Amino acid sequence: MQSVYNYSFDELVTFLESIGEKKFRATQIFEWLYRARVSSFDEMTNLSSKTIEKLKEHLIIDNLEVETKEVSKDGTIKFLFKLPDERFIETVLMTHNYGNSVCVTSQVGCNMGCAFCASGELGKIRNLTLSEMVLQVLMVQKELDKENRRVSNIVVMGIGEPFDNYDTLLKFLRVVNYPKGLEIGARHITVSTCGIVPKIKEFADFDLQINLAISLHAPNDVLRSNLMKINKRYQLSEVMDALNYYFVKTNRRVTFEYILLEGVNDSLAHAKELVDLIKATDEVGKCCYVNLIPYNEVSTKPFKRTSHEQAERFFKVLHDNNIQATLRMEHGSDISAACGQLRAKKERRNG
Ligand code: SAH
Repeated sequence: MQSVYNYSFDELVTFLESIGEKKFRATQIFEWLYRARVSSFDEMTNLSSKTIEKLKEHLIIDNLEVETKEVSKDGTIKFLFKLPDERFIETVLMTHNYGNSVCVTSQVGCNMGCAFCASGELGKIRNLTLSEMVLQVLMVQKELDKENRRVSNIVVMGIGEPFDNYDTLLKFLRVVNYPKGLEIGARHITVSTCGIVPKIKEFADFDLQINLAISLHAPNDVLRSNLMKINKRYQLSEVMDALNYYFVKTNRRVTFEYILLEGVNDSLAHAKELVDLIKATDEVGKCCYVNLIPYNEVSTKPFKRTSHEQAERFFKVLHDNNIQATLRMEHGSDISAACGQLRAKKERRNG
């Protein structure tokens, strides 16, 4: 038995043809799954009972098991889902003034080994399947359905490196963007990468206009290589070249994410170095955006969060040099640990 959510639209068409069904059934099934959000084939009332029986022979409409669900005062909801192989993943719903955004996980664990991050501690256990990625969004949407609200934005910024699960990522993006389904606009979706250069270039050629965010976290190679293993493979100059390519191809503004770590990357000299790095990068430098992120401290890591005052000073250097930036607010700070820490705790206990 296979989860129906493991099929991209094209794969569903091929599957239907292989069991002697017409192609257009794929459109009907996608509408039932992603627009009507049914939980059984029997609810698909425009399919004959014979077709339904055939579908049931091969496919199941499954969901994710909720291990814990925490609701914050600010509307943030954190789900810890338990997968069939007893692994855990986190998904977060954040409520903004512009809509409801879901932070999606792409892997169980992560191989990128960033020094400050809880998710890399146990390495990558496996990639998520398409159904496991899609169901994170559907589970949140079903929760919002109760209040007539909809998921308007997706950020692939949960656990894992999405460009290390690239083919599944692309299928996921098409499914959530499907016009008669969840219909989440490409411009309302952001994928975040630690900087896998060949995939940045490939992504530039993807036909959907998805936003790209880069986890920068340091303005020079020495510091970045200390914080992020990936920088030893793809140095800043290569990352910036790839981003230029992305920008020229897509005309989409790139976002730089920069976690402020006390005494590590948060001095005003670092801020100035960041300005210089960005300004030196031809195309991207003219049109990008820096997201300054408060660090969620991880008990097993030595890093500390920069004070709000220092964060403001850092921000001001960017602002005074005409770099667009925001000082991101933390969401759900009253509920449990953030950024992969729920899952890390759980896996450590089990492992
Ligand atoms: N692998 C991808 C996406 C997942 S991480 C990437 O690197 O972009 C999403 C973002 O959270 C990244 O910018 C990552 O560096 C950041 N992050 C990781 N641990 C964090 C922590 N403890 N506090 C704040 N941000 C963190």
